[in-house]
Amino acid sequence: MRIEYEIKLGFKDVMFRPKRSTLKSRSEVDLEREFTFLNSGYKWKGIPIMGANMDTVGTFEMAQALAKKNLFTAIHKHYSLEQWQSFIQTSHTTIYDHIAVSTGTGQMDSDKLKKLFHTLPELKFICIDVANGYSEHFVEFVKKTREQYPDKVIIAGNVVTGEMVEELLLSGADLVKVGIGPGSVCTTRVKTGVGYPQLSAIIECADAAHGLGGQIISDGGCTSPGDVAKAFGAGADFVMLGGMLAGHDESGGEIIQKDGKVFKQFYGMSSSTAMEKHVGGVAEYRASEGKTVEVPYRGEVENTLQDILGGLRSTCTYVGAQRLKELTKRTTFIRVSEQENQIYT
Ligand code: 5GP
Repeated sequence: MRIEYEIKLGFKDVMFRPKRSTLKSRSEVDLEREFTFLNSGYKWKGIPIMGANMDTVGTFEMAQALAKKNLFTAIHKHYSLEQWQSFIQTSHTTIYDHIAVSTGTGQMDSDKLKKLFHTLPELKFICIDVANGYSEHFVEFVKKTREQYPDKVIIAGNVVTGEMVEELLLSGADLVKVGIGPGSVCTTRVKTGVGYPQLSAIIECADAAHGLGGQIISDGGCTSPGDVAKAFGAGADFVMLGGMLAGHDESGGEIIQKDGKVFKQFYGMSSSTAMEKHVGGVAEYRASEGKTVEVPYRGEVENTLQDILGGLRSTCTYVGAQRLKELTKRTTFIRVSEQENQIYT
C-alpha cells in the first residue's frame, strides 16, 4: 500500500484570480476553438462544449439545439439504425460536425457501429465510452477501431491519469475523456471508493495530452457556469455536461407532476433505471453505480446555454482572455475554503 500526499483539487477548491484586462465587454470574447485532431488529422471548429452521451441528455433533439449554437453532442448509444436515418434526413448537412456516435466495447456494439457507418458514412465522430478506461480490452478496442476507421475522429474514455491518456492517444484516440466519479448522478466513489478530484485530473491529463498533440474532454462534475470556466481554465479542450443540460424540453426522461410542480427524470447510465430500460435489469455480478433523480423542469435548453456561454465570456473578461483558447494561459487559481454566500439559498 502507498499513499500520495500531494493534495488533489476539485472545482469547489479554487477560484480564478482576476487580472488586469483591456477587454471592454464580454461580447468581445471569442468562444470558438479550432483543432486539428492528432490521429484522424480532421480539422474542427466550434464552441467546445458537449452534451453527455446519456439517454436523458444526448438525444437527437438536444443535438439539434446545441448544434444551432455551434456546440456538440455525444448522442447516446441506444438509438436504432432507423432512428438515426430519420434524424439525419431531418437535419442539415452541417450536423456531422456537431455529433458523435457512442459505442461500448462489446461485439454487438462494434457490429452496430459498422452498420451505422455503412448506412451513414458521413458520420465523423465516434465516442468509445466505458466506465473504466484502464482495461486492456478497452485499449485493444480503441486500436481496432482506429485500424477500421482511419479517418474518423475517435473519443475514448474515461480515465483520470496522464499515463493512461498517453496510452489511449498512442492507441489511436484523438480525444481522451477524463473523469471518474465526479458526475451528478454517479455513485462510483460511494460504491467503490475509486475516483480523482476533477480539477486535478484535468490539469494532469491535459498536460499529458498536449505533450503528444492530443486533446482532452473534461467529463462530469460541472454544477454551474463557473465550474465550466474552471474546467477550461485548468486546461480542458472540451467540457462535457450531463446534469446541467437535464430537465429541458430537449432532454430525455419522463415528465413528472408533483404538487403543482413539474419535474423531469434524470438518471445515470449505470443506474438501475437505465439498466432495466436497456438491458433488462442489473446483472448479478455488479452493483448499480448511478442514481435516479427528479430535476425541476426548465423549458428550452437555449436559455441555459445562454447562461453557460455568458458566464464563460464573463470569466474571460475577468482574467483578460480575448479568446477561450487564451483562458488557460491567463488562469491563476487561488485555493479557497469558501465559494458563494449561501445565506439566501
Ligand atoms: P454531470 O455533468 O452530470 O456531473 O456528469 C455527466 C457524466 O457522468 C457523464 O458524461 C458520464 O461520464 C457520467 N455518468 C453518467 N451516468 C453515470 C452512472 O450511472 N455512473 C457513473 N459512475 N457515471 C455516470
